[in-house]
Amino acid sequence: MIIVMKPQAAQSSITAIKEYIENSGLNAHLSQGTEVTIIGVVGDKSRLSTENLISFKDVDRIVPVTETYKLANRKFHPDPTTVKVGPASIGPDNMTIMAGPCAVETQEQLMAIAKAVKACGATILRGGAYKPRTSPYSFQGLEEEGLRYMQEAAKETGLATICEVVSHEAIEAAVKYVDMIQIGARNMQNFILLKEAGRSGLPVLLKRGLSATIEEWLNAAEYIIAEGNPNVVLCERGIRTFETATRNTLDLSAVPVLKERTHLPVIVDPSHATGVYKYVAPLAKAAVACGADGLMIEVHNDPAHALSDGPQSLTFEKFEKLTGELAPYIGLAGRSFR
Ligand code: PEP
Ligand code: MN
Repeated sequence: MIIVMKPQAAQSSITAIKEYIENSGLNAHLSQGTEVTIIGVVGDKSRLSTENLISFKDVDRIVPVTETYKLANRKFHPDPTTVKVGPASIGPDNMTIMAGPCAVETQEQLMAIAKAVKACGATILRGGAYKPRTSPYSFQGLEEEGLRYMQEAAKETGLATICEVVSHEAIEAAVKYVDMIQIGARNMQNFILLKEAGRSGLPVLLKRGLSATIEEWLNAAEYIIAEGNPNVVLCERGIRTFETATRNTLDLSAVPVLKERTHLPVIVDPSHATGVYKYVAPLAKAAVACGADGLMIEVHNDPAHALSDGPQSLTFEKFEKLTGELAPYIGLAGRSFR
């Protein structure tokens, strides 16, 4: 449930309710807006009396929250969240572009890509060091060595960094080298990994599972936040449908639906969604137009020889063209960029 306080409720009234909730063995989460304060209650509600709560001073009303995700719920936290990622941030004011190779291949490759994407306005460098591939015989990533290259590229360029994690060991390593961790589509419902990501202290990008509903996805985000980590960003990367012309089907309708249901930032990955470089630009523009807070785009110095996802990767020239073309869309969306 949420407790909506009267406008200008006294701090002492808010504190009294918070204490009552906590003394009943539940958790109280405060969302202090400019006008109204909302207190979100998480825990076993049978231990609380609604009649008692409504009689507290300065309480306006009590609203049940029927959804199973609470901390990710927009009812708990009406204002949109901004997530800080090293020197970058993801939220309603900016259009944050994460770009880089599918996989970190060599130090020289990563450094060249980092410089190229930075020059075009990206603020976060992406690069996979642990690659969960469909085939066990495909390139599996450089692991910790790849993370070290990410850190070096960040030092040289000032970019923030993000890397996918697939295990406890990968999280332990990532904490030493990068600014944000990514939970990939294939691990969206790996609940043990989600909890560990929640305890890592790093912001988390949570990709949508290949066949996950929006409700399942928000519950996965709840697992991370429930561990005390509110810095979660959602990434729509296409879902599996009957269509085979693209690698997945980009569900852009998820963006406005999520904006209604959650306060968490939402970004879109047209690269993994389509699997085809020439479809990346039109869908990136559409994502900006429908309210995304950012984009994740795969960029490679030599897509024809990339160790993974070459067909969907943009060359430096194509990425530069795309960011130039995106600028007016970003302006119309009322966001800043670069
Ligand atoms: C990736 O971003 O490198 C990746 C593997 O994406 P996804 O989990 O969306 O397939
Ligand atoms: Mn990829």
